Amino acid sequence: MIDAGTAVCALLGDPVEHTLSPFIHNSLAEYEKVNSVYTAFRVNRGDTGTVLKGAYAMGIRGFNVTVPHKEDVIAYLSDIDRNASEIGAVNTLCLSGGGYKGYNTDAAGFIRELRECGFDIRGEEVIMIGAGGAANAVLNALYSLGARGVYILNRSVKKAEEKFGADKRNKILSLSDHGKIEGEGYFCVQCTSVGLYPDNERAPIEDESFFKKINRAVDIIYNPSETAFMKRVKRNGGRAVNGLDMLLFQAVESFKLFHAKDVSEESIDLVRKKLKERVYKGS
Ligand code: NDP
Repeated sequence: MIDAGTAVCALLGDPVEHTLSPFIHNSLAEYEKVNSVYTAFRVNRGDTGTVLKGAYAMGIRGFNVTVPHKEDVIAYLSDIDRNASEIGAVNTLCLSGGGYKGYNTDAAGFIRELRECGFDIRGEEVIMIGAGGAANAVLNALYSLGARGVYILNRSVKKAEEKFGADKRNKILSLSDHGKIEGEGYFCVQCTSVGLYPDNERAPIEDESFFKKINRAVDIIYNPSETAFMKRVKRNGGRAVNGLDMLLFQAVESFKLFHAKDVSEESIDLVRKKLKERVYKGS
């Protein structure tokens, strides 16, 4: 029951109408018996400083931050975790001494997803498609997991070069230059928004010859449950999973930070089951 001691957490973003974060966090709170409530606020670009000042004064426990605030909000934090600082984006803010401390749990969510499905990329050259906001955390995670180098394929090569070109382990190519990647047996992570519901039939690369090189893949899109990209990987004999576990595990990591408590595997399994029913009902 909500009472005067209920901790308040929320998502800050624009838009926020279709977010699953309240569903995940409130379910975790229920199973973990934490007295907290989680909602979502649509916040205009440029207003995050004002929001955080008021929230701090009211003792709001924590926030998740999504598009378009993940980078801009850094200017208004009292502290930032080292990993989030390396990534250059935050998705979690926790009430601390003089304000809010920023963290990035997207990378941890992606790492946990890869571990769950047994994809080991240590010492390998891997492929990442996309160079948007999510790619920052995914690239950081790929190197944390021991990748030797990353081919980054993006529609805008200039943007990818500006963001990731300074690190010489990265090899940046346009989407149509995938033929320059030699050999086979690659792990590939799909980080563009191409193929996201209702655009279910499209993949950022459609040439079958590309998919013959991939034997393991993650599409960080989670709706539809099987994207056109995943279908192509599977058709060519590879294993492919979607991004629902990444979404769930980044939320679990945020929840742990907000409430300074661990989350049981039993609660995670219960929330995952409920989440799948909710996202994929009727599909
Ligand atoms: P951004 O808008 O920051 O980046 C979009 C990316 O998609 C860019 O690389 C962009 O290329 C590319 N792109 C967009 N349209 C096209 C197109 N028509 N053809 C080729 N490439 C295109 O988005 P995010 O990085 O924040 O999110 C990307 C996806 O990841 C979304 O679908 C989102 O739902 C999903 N996501 C999943 C998460 C999870 O937990 N599972 C977490 C975060 C995101 P260019 O740079 O050339 O514009």
